[in-house]
Amino acid sequence: MHEYSLVQSLVDRVETLVRERSATAVHRVVVSVGELAGVDPGLFRTAYETFRDGTVCERAALELRTVPASWACPACGRSIPPGEVLACSPCGVPARLAAGGDALLLETVEMEVP
Ligand SMILES: [Zn+2]
Repeated sequence: MHEYSLVQSLVDRVETLVRERSATAVHRVVVSVGELAGVDPGLFRTAYETFRDGTVCERAALELRTVPASWACPACGRSIPPGEVLACSPCGVPARLAAGGDALLLETVEMEVP
């Protein structure tokens, strides 16, 4: 399943951070999920709870934040309000998805650093 490989790379990144900072525990992991990232938050949570056993994230709470998709004109930079046609009429070009709307980002890792 798609969500499992995402969780796996997420936990890998947390493990790298833990090693870099010599942390002894991870308390909380905050992940932002773009509305168009194609990630089901429920499945992602289930995958996380299954996968984290035996990893540095074993006791870390997962917080998921959904980032709504936003669109902007690639020519003039005007943002396109939700519900409008996905194009910039003054420029006559199609709107482009702004950063974050289709991404899964590791935002915060709360760690215990001695
Ligand atoms: Zn424009």
